[in-house]
Amino acid sequence: MQITAALEDLSHVLGERLSRSKSDLTQHGHSESYFPETLPDAVAYPESESEVRRIVQICARHGVPVIGWGAGTSLEGHGLAVKGGVVVDFTRMNKVLEIRQADMDVTVQPGVTREALNEELRATGLFFPVDPGANATLGGMAMTRASGTTAVRYGTMRDNVLGLRAVLADGRVIHTGTRARKSAAGYDLTALFVGSEGTLGLVTELTLRLHGVPEATSAGICAFPDMGSAVEAVQETIQMGIPMARIEFACADTARAFNAYAGSDMETAPHLMVEFHGSAESVRQDAERFAEIVADHGGSRFRWSTREEERRALWAMRHNGYYAILASQTGARAVVTDICVPISRLAQAVEETQNDIAASSLRGPILGHVGDGNFHAILLIDPARPEQFDTAKALSHRMGERAIMLGGTCTGEHGIGMGKTDLMEAEHGDGWDVMGDIKRALDPKGLMNPGKVVRGA
Ligand SMILES: Cc1cc2nc3c(=O)[nH]c(=O)nc-3n(C[C@H](O)[C@H](O)[C@H](O)COP(=O)(O)OP(=O)(O)OC[C@H]3O[C@@H](n4cnc5c(N)ncnc54)[C@H](O)[C@@H]3O)c2cc1C
Repeated sequence: MQITAALEDLSHVLGERLSRSKSDLTQHGHSESYFPETLPDAVAYPESESEVRRIVQICARHGVPVIGWGAGTSLEGHGLAVKGGVVVDFTRMNKVLEIRQADMDVTVQPGVTREALNEELRATGLFFPVDPGANATLGGMAMTRASGTTAVRYGTMRDNVLGLRAVLADGRVIHTGTRARKSAAGYDLTALFVGSEGTLGLVTELTLRLHGVPEATSAGICAFPDMGSAVEAVQETIQMGIPMARIEFACADTARAFNAYAGSDMETAPHLMVEFHGSAESVRQDAERFAEIVADHGGSRFRWSTREEERRALWAMRHNGYYAILASQTGARAVVTDICVPISRLAQAVEETQNDIAASSLRGPILGHVGDGNFHAILLIDPARPEQFDTAKALSHRMGERAIMLGGTCTGEHGIGMGKTDLMEAEHGDGWDVMGDIKRALDPKGLMNPGKVVRGA
């Protein structure tokens, strides 16, 4: 790697938008999760696709790794420059390029955040539904195949990216997909890139599916005597075909953390938080049918409302769940992990996870997008006690193994990064080697976000 020569060439292209300042390197060497600080050699701030292309070409010529960066909120060390190199920060490529109301789609640059896009769409009657707990960029969300509370109704990034443009390791710029809602034209390169974590190329543009803002929305919350009955209520709601837009689970420990952080008055018991979208009449009916199911499973009264400020407060509390749980233990850091299982195995997966955590020395509140069979454990550790980190990693690993054994996946939405490569073989078998073959075909020198997703990259 000839880093000095590469930085010299890059500074001719980017001027002051190539930074080596201590604060920039630290900001981009830091992960939201538990990984140790890993500083890149430099941070580049491109403003156009042609600049991204120049960056990739220069880095390729000098054998320097290139790592994309959106909002830096990914949880498995995805954006860390573990082999050095240049972090390409997309925050200056943050324009909404074209909204096409008639086709219900939008083209954006990758640095647009999900909240900024929805702000821009406000007057159109359309919205973009995928909502991870952080205000992530759409580029980062596409690269981690993110999802959130609404995936049960609107799908994940896999379902909502229609196409994209990417700069490949050899400097070629490709576009994938079209704006048509379906296509049978060859391999699905969009699907290949979505979830590739920046290991196959840098994304410079995305075309996304939009959805109509529902005429009416109802949302509510209820408590259950135990986690098993809450999960059974979820399963029955799905089997009855009640069209949920969101259905979120919070364990008793999470409810306690919500109360302390958001001033809510939840019982210290497992809870479901639910939302329905539709007409005024349909959302009332859905809420009432759901209330009956809750009662049948021994739940408390389902308190629901169609008032916007009450719904906003409910979901703000849910979206701040990670911070509420962190704040519930002074000085704690977290190993955050997510798994996803078939809905019929959800109760078993949650119960066995809770028992495993209870048998350890750690606290690990559980919450999640249970309508998809997806849930998180936030394993709290004291950073001054390294043995707690090892315990948390072992718990997280066992969660992943359990999910795979139950026919699910070691991550429903956070992705692999560096943190979960040790579960890839168990989940994919020889398929993991095929991923490595694809990586080597597109990036033979291993310069695009090395050390992530595939074996020996
Ligand atoms: C409080 C909190 C709650 C969260 N809740 C959820 C949740 O509910 N659901 C969920 O899915 N995730 C969740 N996450 C994780 C995180 O928000 C997602 O992984 C998100 O998609 C990351 O987006 P980002 O913009 O921060 O990307 P980054 O972290 O900056 O990057 C993510 C990956 O994409 C690559 N990358 C970024 N931009 C590009 C580009 N233009 N081209 C090529 N590669 C690129 C990076 O190299 C990296 O590998 C949460 C995180 C936090 C901190």
